[in-house]
Amino acid sequence: TTLLLCHRELLDLTCRLANTLKKYGIQKGDKVAIYMSVSPLSVAAMLACARIGAVHTVVFAGFSAESLAGRIMDSGCKAIITYNQGVRGGRIVELKMTVDEAVKSCPSIKHVFVAQRTDNKVQMGDRDIPLEEEMSKAVSVCTPESMDSEDMLFMLYTSGSTGKPKGIVHTQAGYLLYAAVTHKYVFDYQQGDVFGCVADIGWITGHSYVVYGPLCNGATSVLFESTPMYPDPGRYWEVVQRLKINQFYGAPTAIRLLLNYGEEWVKKYDRSSLKTLGSVGEPINKEAWQWFYHVVGEGRCTLVDTWWQTETGGICIAPRPSEEKAEIIPAMAMRPFFGIVPVLMDENGKVIEGNDVSGALCIAQPWPGMARTIYGDHQRFVDAYFKAYPGYYFTGDGAYRTKEGYYQITGRMDDVINISGHRLGTAEIEDAMVSSEEV
Ligand code: AMP
Repeated sequence: TTLLLCHRELLDLTCRLANTLKKYGIQKGDKVAIYMSVSPLSVAAMLACARIGAVHTVVFAGFSAESLAGRIMDSGCKAIITYNQGVRGGRIVELKMTVDEAVKSCPSIKHVFVAQRTDNKVQMGDRDIPLEEEMSKAVSVCTPESMDSEDMLFMLYTSGSTGKPKGIVHTQAGYLLYAAVTHKYVFDYQQGDVFGCVADIGWITGHSYVVYGPLCNGATSVLFESTPMYPDPGRYWEVVQRLKINQFYGAPTAIRLLLNYGEEWVKKYDRSSLKTLGSVGEPINKEAWQWFYHVVGEGRCTLVDTWWQTETGGICIAPRPSEEKAEIIPAMAMRPFFGIVPVLMDENGKVIEGNDVSGALCIAQPWPGMARTIYGDHQRFVDAYFKAYPGYYFTGDGAYRTKEGYYQITGRMDDVINISGHRLGTAEIEDAMVSSEEV
């Protein structure tokens, strides 16, 4: 089903939700966990926190009670907003039950706001507040809190390669600016376009390119609650046809999965609305890139491989913007965004000059969207990103700079195995696997 919500209605939902949070004592600076599937109400929950100056931390609604509890304890959330149940790929997900399990070990939680995604009743306890019921009693006007540009907007946990999850902190003005500007220029978003980022709001991609970037630009943003395989492998393209999506932004994993099911699932649907295709999350192998470009995009859409991280807030390296009609090389992020200065470092911490070289990818100067700290552990932030190469932000990724001076991301530096002097990262392994008939 298609549910259409205009900006005015979203504002109404947001203000009612904001006033409900206020009524239960949530104030500027308080932390609020959001454990919900993608929906208008979960977007309103993020914006309601922002409106009253509370800090949201969205936890992907597929995470376990233990992961949820760990994040709540680390961030000291006072409240959590959830659904009675979730619906994903035709299955019911017991969100409230998971929250109940999690909050047993979270004394900081004073209130659990429970919205209804399904008609099923769930057990409600002393802490639990029926959200829609409260919202219907709340007024639909809520003056936004004044914030300093460097106040916290949200935190988002990333697993990191070792140790406990890191609460990456993003702040107000710089983050929003960066999300909005990258959304506009990387995807060539034009007024009136329907922007379809199929990421979950539990990830940074959902924050920047489902919620903050598109909404800041006044876009129509698609909320995709399902999975690429439900009810069948044509789901994405059915949505593209039904909603006349102009920009489609997804992950290589999904593309690699779908290309196994044949072109008829794609060709069944009208994709003539598409102008830009985007890829994010990991290196896209050449086979997936070609399929995305030729089969999905009929060879006429711009395909942008966008490199960035939870910590960077928005896209840092992508083929666009660029001069009009500038070349795009398959499976390459290519060009730094405005204000991004990539450098490659050798093992001795020296900047590698010239082209046709590989090294550790660093960024040489700050940009508006960069993370400001790891919540509660600034030293860990400094150690993780600024210690290896003093004066530079270290991304943790390796990259190759081509003869032409373009950047190709080769993957996490710590996801590499060394065999007989050859460094094999995820990109090389994936490429070898897809080109082998036996695999
Ligand atoms: P996360 O912190 O979960 O946002 O993951 C960020 C990491 O995903 C990056 O450091 C890269 O290793 C990887 N990544 C994201 N986008 C791309 C891309 N377009 N090409 C290659 N790797 C990517």
